[in-house]
Amino acid sequence: MTSLPLIPAATDKPTRRAAMPQQHLADLDLAGRQALVAELGEPAFRAKQISNHYFGRLVRDPQLMTDLPAAARERLAERLMPRLLTAVRELTCDDGATRKALWRLHDGALVESVLMGYEDRVTVCISSQAGCGMACPFCATGQAGLTRNLSTAEIVDQAVYLAGVAASGAVAGSPARLSHVVFMGMGEPLANYARVVAAIRRLVAPAPEGLGLSQRHITVSTVGLVPAIRRLASEDLSVTLALSLHAPDDDLRDELVPVNQRWKVAEVLDAAWDYAARTGRRVSIEYAMIKDVNDQPWRADLLGRLLAGKLAHVNLIPLNPTPGSRWDASPKPVEREFVRRLRAAGVSTTVRDTRGREIDGACGQLAAAEDSDTDRAAAAPA
Ligand code: SAH
Repeated sequence: MTSLPLIPAATDKPTRRAAMPQQHLADLDLAGRQALVAELGEPAFRAKQISNHYFGRLVRDPQLMTDLPAAARERLAERLMPRLLTAVRELTCDDGATRKALWRLHDGALVESVLMGYEDRVTVCISSQAGCGMACPFCATGQAGLTRNLSTAEIVDQAVYLAGVAASGAVAGSPARLSHVVFMGMGEPLANYARVVAAIRRLVAPAPEGLGLSQRHITVSTVGLVPAIRRLASEDLSVTLALSLHAPDDDLRDELVPVNQRWKVAEVLDAAWDYAARTGRRVSIEYAMIKDVNDQPWRADLLGRLLAGKLAHVNLIPLNPTPGSRWDASPKPVEREFVRRLRAAGVSTTVRDTRGREIDGACGQLAAAEDSDTDRAAAAPA
């Protein structure tokens, strides 16, 4: 705890010039698509037709939209359906119930997404930025810094692709329909605010405008950018907010979540309670359990006092150690005692499962390295 990482000067600005991709239909709402289709000299109904393919049937390749006349298809594809994500690698584990996809974007930037199949639901974890500028020292994504923001369509396309995987029946024992989306992949979603909100609108709009997911089933996870949390509360959306707290005291949180040097624990919790009041939605407090760092009984008690009586739920995440990290996960008895104390304070608390660990697809492990050892995938239980 000697030197604190610096807070990125401007949390919304990528470190090098952003190379956004060409516009895609998922960047636009239906009216926008209709206007563009008309501009191309095509009948307006074509906008619904391609939207139906993409959001309704999860067809991402224009060549497969065979009910479109070839010439129209070509014109529309060129203007509205650029290829945004090129699969570099897909890994599965947990008997096929967890699948991680590594994507190369048009400019060579790499991002990852994860699909998790459960008995009653299918969740995808998507990235909102290539890299991340928040510099949390225990998170793999934070180590390399921010490359750039993703476009709205680059965010949406990850969910549409993985919804297609689920629909194909690839995740045995799970529903075929994608139901939940969490913004817990690479990046800080609220640092890419406008594009993330537009992506949420596409995810919740009914087909053919969007994927038709329930707002309640979308979770935006943040380090705690207070003005952006307040802005999100004022949108006509009521998605679930997850706050990556990780420490109940400023001393430690300044180190674990460097943006705390700008917005303190009290301030960020205030914004979270306002969010809960405005939306009626319980805020999820994320807390990675790090051995001998933030897992002491007194910190559980302090956290319990901060959260008691609030519309909050604590999600403890066993730390997934990242390469070269000096930190480890808390031992199970320590974790159990932490849970016990929070519950005794009246705070609802659960421990998150550690899906995807052996494919580096668990929380905080997404680093999007192209050269990692692919043999591990073969060695993972299939
Ligand atoms: N930037 C956002 C979303 C990305 S991370 C945020 O920070 O909330 C999603 C969650 O995984 C966050 O709660 C994050 O703090 C947590 N996380 C990061 N690295 C982790 C690690 N190594 N082990 C466990 N959880 C981690």
